[in-house]
Amino acid sequence: MQFTHEHLEIQKTLKRFIDAEINPHVDEWEAAEIFPAHEVFKKLGNLGLLGVTKPEAYGGMGLDYSYGMAMAETLGYVDCGGVPMAIGVQTDMCTPALARFGSEELKKEFLVPAIAGDAVGCIGVSEPGAGSDVSAITSRARKDGDDYVITGQKMWITNSLQADWMCMLVNTGDGPAHKNKSLVMVPLRDNGKLRKGIEVAQQDQENRHALQRHRADLFRRSACAAT
Ligand SMILES: Cc1cc2nc3c(=O)[nH]c(=O)nc-3n(C[C@H](O)[C@H](O)[C@H](O)COP(=O)(O)OP(=O)(O)OC[C@H]3O[C@@H](n4cnc5c(N)ncnc54)[C@H](O)[C@@H]3O)c2cc1C
Repeated sequence: MQFTHEHLEIQKTLKRFIDAEINPHVDEWEAAEIFPAHEVFKKLGNLGLLGVTKPEAYGGMGLDYSYGMAMAETLGYVDCGGVPMAIGVQTDMCTPALARFGSEELKKEFLVPAIAGDAVGCIGVSEPGAGSDVSAITSRARKDGDDYVITGQKMWITNSLQADWMCMLVNTGDGPAHKNKSLVMVPLRDNGKLRKGIEVAQQDQENRHALQRHRADLFRRSACAAT
């Protein structure tokens, strides 16, 4: 497809940001085995780049997906794999279902800060026993009054070592494995500290900021789900 002037302007803005704010720090972040996700995301949020395809009502630009593609293409200029993956998870993996199916309350609590760069999100699907075969996940949410009590483990979750919340796939019923699942928005941290009941078991040393093991046991969350 032919990019328009507007596509090219978004690409120029992002390329300038990458050259000034990401690439000069990649070696330092590699050595530290982590990058400052909140700092980088806040700057991207200030430029509007975390909500290019998200509705304007929640702080996005309300543009079609071709603009998201233009952005993804430009992320190829980052001199490492983990940081563009972290940004891609924020813009295209942990927020789309929230934007499309989330309640107004959920969107205000989780989507608005994610687009503004005030919160880092992650998507929790994979588990020690469930990778390609997503239907095999065993994490479960049980209704308890107004809460869900969630038990389970997630693994390989990009951003999870710094994320404020997880869009988490869990079983919410006993029916057929392809029809018994929901995405639940789970707050992971308050002011950077893991919430009670959530534990990070191990960081994968070889894969630096891209691969992060994450274990979340028994946490409670007010009822909210998008199936
Ligand atoms: C950099 C990185 C970041 C990630 N970030 C996240 C994240 O943020 N959130 C998240 O939920 N997960 C994340 N993952 C996990 C990722 O989604 C899983 O690794 C992926 O689903 C594959 O699962 P697996 O590693 O268990 O491999 P497996 O499912 O065990 O597959 C192993 C091999 O078998 C092949 N295979 C599997 N099933 C079949 C089949 N039916 N027929 C033929 N071949 C088959 C696969 O192609 C693969 O080559 C991340 C992974 C990586 C590498």
